[in-house]
Amino acid sequence: ITGLNGMLNTLVKAASAAQRVFEIIDLQPDIPSEEGHLGVSGEGPCSLAFEGVRFFYPMRPDTMVLDGLDFSVGAGQTVAMVGRSGAGKSTLVGLMLRFYDPKGGRVLLNGTPLTEYNLRLYRQKVGVVSQDTQVFCRSILENLTYGLEPGEAKMADIERAAKAASCHEFIQELEEGYQSMIGEGGTRLSGGQRQRVAIARALLRKPKLLLLDEATSALDAENEGRVQEALDDLVHSVHGSCSVVLIAHRLSTVMGADKIVVLDRGRMVEQGTHEELLKNNQIYAGLVQRQLARDAKAEGAEGAEGAE
Ligand code: ATP
Repeated sequence: ITGLNGMLNTLVKAASAAQRVFEIIDLQPDIPSEEGHLGVSGEGPCSLAFEGVRFFYPMRPDTMVLDGLDFSVGAGQTVAMVGRSGAGKSTLVGLMLRFYDPKGGRVLLNGTPLTEYNLRLYRQKVGVVSQDTQVFCRSILENLTYGLEPGEAKMADIERAAKAASCHEFIQELEEGYQSMIGEGGTRLSGGQRQRVAIARALLRKPKLLLLDEATSALDAENEGRVQEALDDLVHSVHGSCSVVLIAHRLSTVMGADKIVVLDRGRMVEQGTHEELLKNNQIYAGLVQRQLARDAKAEGAEGAEGAE
């Protein structure tokens, strides 16, 4: 009887958990993936433009996060977005991926509103490497080819992408190589390894538009160095063949961009190349000076530690 009672308790708990799962499965997305009729045609990279985009999150309608944002990314250009924390950089990535639509203004892809493209087909052409990279509890191979048609990527392409993203080496060291299971119940990857898998995944899709949200923290020094190297290589290798929007935190990445867009309180307040913006001596120049002062201080502290 005690055993039956325990089972009953477990069943009641499982039933209420299942109900919550079904409620989530039944949720209808705000933006249906089959909405829109256009595919992203042509071989080359895409251009992207924000025209007077206004946006607030549904939960906080009184806080305007993007407030008449204008900027453009030319086909094949690498554009770095910089700005203080909370300026709206990650939000605009959410709008580019159509997690949300603007409340005002337009986002244009190759001159046509993003809303006219079929969401599924559009997202197939976009590569994303975000700060909070997710991996699935599947094999490394399935994680790399996630979202591609079966057989679409050849093993040679997969290994090439993994090598370019500096993850081939650690994958080979796993007992079952590319077939090794990762995530819960399998091999747990470090933050840096997850990011490198995400970079390889993005490369494999041969994207027309690449969105990179550079990680700021949560990586140890060695992993951070390797992730940055892999990201730099990625931006370099796709330059011209793919348009890149980079949410950048490191000065060295920003300096290499074709254009730097400075955001402040949801608006574009400056744009230009590194040299042009330094000459302007406005917000960007201030950010650069602060970063250089921080670097010098960190180097000084390291030097003092070494002397001890
Ligand atoms: P960081 O450099 O710190 O990542 P950011 O420039 O990317 O910052 P966002 O993350 O886009 O800035 O946030 C812009 C504003 O929107 C902030 O005020 C933030 O609190 C708010 N915000 C972000 N995400 C949400 C959300 N899901 N719901 C409500 N408000 C949000």
